[in-house]
Amino acid sequence: MTSWKTIPADGYDVAVAGGGASGMTAAIAAARSGARVALLERGERPGKKLLMTGNGKCNLGNRDLKPSHYYSDNMAMAASVLERFGTEETIAFFSSLGLMVRERRGYLYPYSEQAATVLDVLRYGLEREKVEVMPQAMVREVIPRAEGHGAPMEYILRLDNGRELRAERVVLACGGQAVPRTGSDGSGYALARSLGHRIVPPVPSLVQLHCGEKYCKALAGVRSEGTVRIYGDGQGKHSRRDRASYNERGDLLLEETGEIQLTEYGISGIPVFQLSGGVNQLLAQRKELRAELDFFSQCEGDAYKRLCLDRMEHMGQESVEMFFTGMLHKKIMAVCVRLAGLSPEERVDWADRRKLWRVFDLCRHLPFTVIGSHPFESAQVCRGGVSMRDVDAQLQSRRCHGLYMAGELLHVDGRCGGYNLQWAWASGYIAGSAAGSGESGILRAEK
Ligand SMILES: Cc1cc2nc3c(=O)[nH]c(=O)nc-3n(C[C@H](O)[C@H](O)[C@H](O)COP(=O)(O)OP(=O)(O)OC[C@H]3O[C@@H](n4cnc5c(N)ncnc54)[C@H](O)[C@@H]3O)c2cc1C
Repeated sequence: MTSWKTIPADGYDVAVAGGGASGMTAAIAAARSGARVALLERGERPGKKLLMTGNGKCNLGNRDLKPSHYYSDNMAMAASVLERFGTEETIAFFSSLGLMVRERRGYLYPYSEQAATVLDVLRYGLEREKVEVMPQAMVREVIPRAEGHGAPMEYILRLDNGRELRAERVVLACGGQAVPRTGSDGSGYALARSLGHRIVPPVPSLVQLHCGEKYCKALAGVRSEGTVRIYGDGQGKHSRRDRASYNERGDLLLEETGEIQLTEYGISGIPVFQLSGGVNQLLAQRKELRAELDFFSQCEGDAYKRLCLDRMEHMGQESVEMFFTGMLHKKIMAVCVRLAGLSPEERVDWADRRKLWRVFDLCRHLPFTVIGSHPFESAQVCRGGVSMRDVDAQLQSRRCHGLYMAGELLHVDGRCGGYNLQWAWASGYIAGSAAGSGESGILRAEK
């Protein structure tokens, strides 16, 4: 650990602000390029969030790496970073740090299955590369300073208690604002904004959704495979045929399949997480959104209709509850029955089957009004951040020469499955190597 007295008077070649996954990687990469590097972390020690990842096991990457697993305002740029530093490069990077990696259905984990091991090898990597790790160093201000005409720019980093540090180049890697208690509380956005960068308003992503229906309480605790579909207000432009196919449900905006979890506040589970960032962006635009749960989405063509007809044929003179028992989770069936205007105890009315069909229909279109999500405290990542249009291919700012950015601070987020850490390693390595070697990007400010 560096004592403040030992800060070199002539400053560092590279200062990395933020000791998360991307910042530690950037610092190691910059030091490997031969630079004298300081890593400034506001917390007691770097990597707090890393310990929480993958339920403590750290899903650090995925073999199935492609741009469609990511979201950004400049996908071409994000994709080019991931092309240059993909899954193989991640494995090689960690191998160079001594980490053994295991693969399960394409998902990458440390062989130890402990996130702490990943943090340990990164910490030893920083030590090995002689990076000055400075804990409790909250970067409050980054001030670019040109030393005379044509001389390289340097940066003054203002820290707490009047402390200052000079560096020729800076990597901002302060994360977003997901789980602010880990240190990433959005202060990186303020630093980037103060240096002229555009910030796409961040919203929580990979997070639970809140719904307005009273029957959420009755469904709490249920887990079931199915498809979640999010519909808009139906004002989108569709051909007449499309409109008919959407069956007056509105515009189909997002769709995900997997294990849905029903909770007393709304819906959760991996498929809900996957579409939550998109939902929150739409809600921020004051769009009215509905979710529909389809618990028979695996039925193709008219297979579901045939199942229902078969049930009609084989069930006898019995109660509604008996008729529907055996199809789905009891709590789901009870809600569908009530929404169709039936009571479980009443006898099936074979003369009027419309309500039975309504129950069958609800099993595929159980409606919810989406009103919000859990806050940033519960989100795994942020959607939004520094516009990817404000950085070049080396992740150098197009507005401040010698300033680089990496990780979740940038407007790139991925699906569940190791994609966000993959982005942190990739962007950290590319920004860090470029900053370390002083590689110049294209200096261009775009309005
Ligand atoms: C519960 C949970 C589970 C997750 N699981 C996975 C998973 O299994 N796989 C996966 O791919 N992704 C996962 N993620 C997402 C992943 O952890 C993040 O995308 C990734 O850690 C982002 O790395 P980062 O370095 O950009 O930011 P962060 O990890 O947020 O690090 C930013 C660092 O900067 C520091 N900092 C902030 N501001 C300042 C400042 N002004 N001065 C100095 N320091 C500052 C912070 O203290 C923090 O240490 C998970 C996230 C959570 C919350």
